[in-house]
Amino acid sequence: MTKFTDLNLAPKVLKAIEDVGYETPTPIQAGAIPPALEGRDVLGIAQTGTGKTASFVLPMITMLARGRARARMPRSLVLCPTRELAAQVAENFDQYTKYMKLTKALLIGGVSFKEQDALIDKGVDVLIATPGRLLDHFERGKLILSDVKVMVVDEADRMLDMGFIPDIERIFGLTPFTRQTLFFSATMAPEIERITNTFLSAPAKIEVARQATSGENIEQYVVMFKGSRRDRAASEKRKLLRALIDAEGDKLQNGIIFCNRKTDVDIVSKSLNKYGYQASPIHGDLDQSQRNATLEKFRNGEIKILVASDVAARGLDVASITHVFNFDVPSHAEDYVHRIGRTGRAGRDGKAIMICEPRDEKNFADVEALIAKEIPRLENPLGNAPVEEETEVKSDKPKRSRSRKRKTEDAPQVEPQAETQVEALPREESRKSEPKSDSHSRRGRGRKEDDNKVVGLGDHLPSFIALSFEERQAG
Ligand code: AMP
Repeated sequence: MTKFTDLNLAPKVLKAIEDVGYETPTPIQAGAIPPALEGRDVLGIAQTGTGKTASFVLPMITMLARGRARARMPRSLVLCPTRELAAQVAENFDQYTKYMKLTKALLIGGVSFKEQDALIDKGVDVLIATPGRLLDHFERGKLILSDVKVMVVDEADRMLDMGFIPDIERIFGLTPFTRQTLFFSATMAPEIERITNTFLSAPAKIEVARQATSGENIEQYVVMFKGSRRDRAASEKRKLLRALIDAEGDKLQNGIIFCNRKTDVDIVSKSLNKYGYQASPIHGDLDQSQRNATLEKFRNGEIKILVASDVAARGLDVASITHVFNFDVPSHAEDYVHRIGRTGRAGRDGKAIMICEPRDEKNFADVEALIAKEIPRLENPLGNAPVEEETEVKSDKPKRSRSRKRKTEDAPQVEPQAETQVEALPREESRKSEPKSDSHSRRGRGRKEDDNKVVGLGDHLPSFIALSFEERQAG
């Protein structure tokens, strides 16, 4: 078996790897590092979770250890599709260069131009960027790319999905023809193939198998969920999540809840806390020290539930996570495998429960296709939402939901300002608060004209009758 010491990495890099605790190189590392260190182009077909970040960062920093950066002329460039990924690469870079004097700048949204410009002016060894932001800097004349010796394109297939390929082509054109290119993609779509044929020169091609499809020791379930009404779906989904957590009882010792969106990470976490569950959010927008503190608390058991985005949970290595909840079906099927792989580690048993809404069905089909098995359906512990409510929504009462929204959930310790989104009342509660009368029961404003009808008087309602209604209602 290949060892890190077989790979010709700089001694200071090896020392940092030892500190991080990696014992052996992963297949993509064992395959990509040697040709990269020989100065060859590399085409790595690998997805996240395979250790691909280190497979380009480690040889890059070994090569950069020789030589120095010149003002405004970065020596290497890493392009990532999202700022979360770029931040993750930057984090890895910091870890692996802890015994070296290499500098980096991070060009992503949310990081000030001014500070990064100052770094670039001084000269950086590595520029880690999203394509758009890099081009912004370039166009402002702050950046010269003619000294780039190594260019990395990470997650090219996501770049394609996000429409960044023209930017990538342009950036390729701005860097010297003689640069070395390390190019990574999980899949080889025809467009990706075209780019690699155009811009890579006789690359060493390393393809690593998809991560083992979902572990046999992980029990997997899915709950099909449809909100009773559009404006209630979000809070009903959170209620369902709580019910799923409750149903696990003491078996749930610690768990991660994955959400597709960062906003949901925050909302779900706040909502859980409001209901007395100990949860903390973790996503790419939180600063590193906050994330580290949260992870530490999760590791030592102070926090039982982590609500996370995919990127933030990467690199989270806790051996004994009992449960993974997928609040959403991930939009990339591979992420499902990574997510549930957080539990059931080191031969332990784990449980993964996912909520699937009608809009997730396509993604759900992709997940089942990827893992090549059917995920057992779990009954909704709350039962299925009654359909009558839905029919009612479709009737002409656009303001009904407004009056409910003003109220908060029947939480034990209601802290309205703690919730970024005011939640609807649970159904039983809202029924109680509704007057028994019908459509013209509340408020004059926003009512459909039909609401003014009084049975027996047809369309020509004398105005004094309408007036008396308004007054009575207001009282
Ligand atoms: P990546 O595919 O780069 O997103 O890496 C996935 C995870 O694997 C990260 O948490 C890394 O810290 C971890 N990792 C990378 N290389 C190794 C290794 N050789 N041994 C163990 N873990 C690793």
